[in-house]
Amino acid sequence: MPVVKIERLSKSYSGTMVLHPLDLEIHDRELFFLVGPSGCGKSTLLRLIAGLLKPDSGRISFDTKEVSSLPPEKRGAAMVFQNYALWPHMSVCENVAFGLQNFGFKGDKLLSTTNEALESVGMLTYSDRMPAALSGGQQQRVALARALAVKPSLLLFDEPLSNLDARLREHMRSEIWRICKENSLTAIYVTHDRKEALSMADRIAILDKGRLRQIGTPEELYKNPLDQFTASFMGDCNFFEGEILPGSSASFHDIRTALGIFRVPVAEAPPGKRLKLAARPEDVKIMDLFNDSSVEGLIKRSVFVGDITLNEIEAGGISISAAELGYRIRKGGGKCAVSLSPDKLMILRDQEN
Ligand code: ADP
Repeated sequence: MPVVKIERLSKSYSGTMVLHPLDLEIHDRELFFLVGPSGCGKSTLLRLIAGLLKPDSGRISFDTKEVSSLPPEKRGAAMVFQNYALWPHMSVCENVAFGLQNFGFKGDKLLSTTNEALESVGMLTYSDRMPAALSGGQQQRVALARALAVKPSLLLFDEPLSNLDARLREHMRSEIWRICKENSLTAIYVTHDRKEALSMADRIAILDKGRLRQIGTPEELYKNPLDQFTASFMGDCNFFEGEILPGSSASFHDIRTALGIFRVPVAEAPPGKRLKLAARPEDVKIMDLFNDSSVEGLIKRSVFVGDITLNEIEAGGISISAAELGYRIRKGGGKCAVSLSPDKLMILRDQEN
């Protein structure tokens, strides 16, 4: 049973549709990511779920109970914002306790619940500090403790790590993941950062211009994107075309591409039809010796970018990017053999809406 069920939810501002009617189900204990470029409607969707915005149409249910017309405080969801939203004049423990007091906590129960929440994010020893005396990462932990303290049925994250530097962001990713999993939380997490989504999410929904493009696990979206938008949003990608060759059977077709001929399972495609294809740079192999499945390539440029070497290769009349692990600079102008394993060839949807 889904913990959150969204049905035909839509939102417009001044007559401009920013969220087209969409359906979405989020499962129990799932860390669900909403990702997409800036302005695609992620925060709008999250705010509709939180009850901070009113939809134009549609329904939102938490655990089968419709919450569409309930105010935020009656929905049982807690939100963690990008800017932490801590009270500057209150200490760390007062910031956490304040929210609990609004829920009727007092005395020993207030203290123990506050301490428990601070302990779970590793901030108990900072109880008496003021927010200004904390780093960005520590402030975000306090904001998280405040959200956790009320034992929300649903945790909503709106770009919570955007204000942190790159190293701290990476550390906080695993911290937030650990806290969500240890507390068996159901959470919806908005980000425009694909690495954040790939490294933390159980499932991801890709949004583009207010529409859902694809939902899946990080692996599904990375390895089997439906269209060019999702393929390139999830990581670096080579895009090229293929042509269906005559003489195929009902269940597979041979297609000719710049990287060779591939046998693929495509239904009902006439010979001559062109397909949109894609391949990740790390799946394009460069070899010194040719074999049956390789084509000739010309190294145009080879650049070491830290953990991998990126090679720009001309093969079959197109430019292809091939990644190799580590420092593997190849001489520009040199010939090489290039190959792509058939199971790494991604077939994309013809039409994008
Ligand atoms: P994201 O979180 O993906 O960056 P948003 O949900 O914030 O996107 O915004 C989606 C679209 O709605 C954007 O085009 C944005 O400019 C517009 N928008 C957001 N809030 C308002 C508002 N209060 N009034 C008018 N337009 C808005």
